[in-house]
Amino acid sequence: MNAKRIPVSDPHASYLSYKNEIDAAIHKVLDSGWYILGEVTREFESNFADYIGVKHCVGVNSGTDAISLALRALDIGAGDEVITVSLTAVATVAAIDLVGATPVLCDIDPDTRYMDASKVQGLISEKTKAILPVHLYGHPADLPALQAIAKKHNLFLIEDCAQAHGAQIDGKMIGSFGDLACFSFYPTKNLGAFGDGGAVCTNNDALADRLRWLREYGWKERYISYYKGMNTRLDEMQAAILNVKLKHLEHDTQKRIAIAQTYQQTLAGLDLKLPSTKPGYRHVYHLYVVEANHREGLQTYLRDNGIATAIHYPQAVHQQPAYSQKIKGFHDLPVTNSLVPKILSLPMYPELSKDKQEHVIEMIRRFYSN
Ligand SMILES: *Cc1c(COP(=O)(O)O)cnc(C)c1O
Repeated sequence: MNAKRIPVSDPHASYLSYKNEIDAAIHKVLDSGWYILGEVTREFESNFADYIGVKHCVGVNSGTDAISLALRALDIGAGDEVITVSLTAVATVAAIDLVGATPVLCDIDPDTRYMDASKVQGLISEKTKAILPVHLYGHPADLPALQAIAKKHNLFLIEDCAQAHGAQIDGKMIGSFGDLACFSFYPTKNLGAFGDGGAVCTNNDALADRLRWLREYGWKERYISYYKGMNTRLDEMQAAILNVKLKHLEHDTQKRIAIAQTYQQTLAGLDLKLPSTKPGYRHVYHLYVVEANHREGLQTYLRDNGIATAIHYPQAVHQQPAYSQKIKGFHDLPVTNSLVPKILSLPMYPELSKDKQEHVIEMIRRFYSN
């Protein structure tokens, strides 16, 4: 890696920030002789449930598995429809497809980029079982509105929290609103392990039991499958790393918010649409995504000046070969379609130094003054 290049995210810097604690935690697991679903995982599950403010957290292998497992726990599968969005990690839609259910795509709000609640009603059919909003880029979805719709139509609400650990609505943590909430601990996420990991959170005791059985072959007792399950377990080493990083999550989140505020103040007035946050909502800036009419030129200019940017995502899910024309709702996503060619993710991670951010800002301003 070019040492001078400023990346979009930097999980290695996160490791270096907490290296001593993380190294010690990993060695403790190695010395314990127990490597999967043990005491350290239980400790993390309890810590994370407390952090989110729910009764249960069930650790799994990834965010994708968390969503699939959540759907299975609700008995959602073939013949059922799940309403979600197209501007998201493909994982959201893939996980719905993996359990045999049909994803139905809803358009988004152009400013907050969350599922447009006013368009959900029109997508509900006899087959609809759940609404699965994504807290995209770290901005909470419109959960109060979606909760009302779910209640009215007797649908489950499942949150995709993979990009939004610590995001809040009126002081209440996202992940505590839905029937089930799915998290990813992929290394670049706001709470990231150094490998794959994920979790499902819930306040429902019966669902928590089902999640625990289904994550390990449907075992209620060891080696006896009562249900057809899967294998999706959190390992002790990742749980140990997450226990360390969870302690620092609020500190890291404050840094992300401060970096976003600096971008917000210094990039205002350019021919660039900056992200906006709904009042009362706490955006945790997993990504800082601007919209640029001259995206390619800007991206090239920044790259030539040692600054990496990324596009999340270059195609919405309904535009990608595996899913195009095969998903319900793909024909009616005007806002999604208009955002995709413009979105650009600027460097955003807690360890981004003042100097480096100033360089990013300086170069963007220079690009627009030419
Ligand atoms: C990362 C991500 C996932 C998938 O998580 P993995 O741990 O990579 O499987 C799901 N949804 C969203 C919105 C994500 O950003």
